[in-house]
Amino acid sequence: MSEPNDTMDTVASAIAEASPSETTRRFAFRGTEALVRASAFDGYPAPDRGTMAGASPWEAPGDELLAVALDSSAAPLPEPGDSLTVPGGALAASYPAETDAPDGWEWKPFRSLINALPEPLWLPAARAMAYANWRASSRFCGRCGSPNGDKPDEIARLCPVCGALSFPRLSPAVLAAVHKDDRLLLARNALNRTGAWSILAGFVEPGESFESCVGREVMEEVGIVVRTTGYRGSQPWPFPDQLMVGFTAEWVSGELAPDGVEIAEAGWFGPDDHPPLPMRGSLSRRLIEAAFEDIRSAGTRR
Ligand SMILES: [Zn+2]
Repeated sequence: MSEPNDTMDTVASAIAEASPSETTRRFAFRGTEALVRASAFDGYPAPDRGTMAGASPWEAPGDELLAVALDSSAAPLPEPGDSLTVPGGALAASYPAETDAPDGWEWKPFRSLINALPEPLWLPAARAMAYANWRASSRFCGRCGSPNGDKPDEIARLCPVCGALSFPRLSPAVLAAVHKDDRLLLARNALNRTGAWSILAGFVEPGESFESCVGREVMEEVGIVVRTTGYRGSQPWPFPDQLMVGFTAEWVSGELAPDGVEIAEAGWFGPDDHPPLPMRGSLSRRLIEAAFEDIRSAGTRR
């Protein structure tokens, strides 16, 4: 495993040939993988530095260089299976599963890049990926089943048979950092294979506000009544089309009773005695660190 400095040397030569602006960038995807310069992310992520809410997970010299590693406009790729220019001007190009990476490049799971880069540097690629995902899932009209066409003057699909119009879809999902005195609710999802514990999350259903979604999800998953107390930020999450919206809430009544289906275990934890946390770069991790920071500073004031 190389040191970050070696990584920067590896990527430094990319600067000269890299696109100067987002309008000439190309982000290439193969399913959930993005094309990156080979070895650019060896040695990353860097050691955990601890973060605050709102700050990027970490900022090392060379982050700009690493972001360049995501721009594949210099890679000799064949014609993509599909592509579109996304707002901001970058090209989102999708390739079939059998497409090999050109020499000097490799396909990497995009999620692992989120863990390696500060949010401002991966967001442009995340936007491109979200549009690519939408293209891949909107090839046919949802109303009549005919092959879709493109609306010429905006990013939308237009059915040439029935005229149905469809736009890129977002699926809002809440994250809830639930406090009880100086403890934070963390839970282990039954399907999570990383062993990480996190705050509760769930998709907003039709007819719900964010606040009522927080209350319903927490009740369904761990059986307690909470009150939503604040908004703590949001984050696009293109797997495939979520918009994560973060809230704080406080315990009102009830004992923790994990549903045993979605949630395997749940408990109340403090800043110094918690289980493994979700990956850096995610909004859930940011909310957890902010909650622990709140708990610490409340303790200092007492
Ligand atoms: Zn149709």
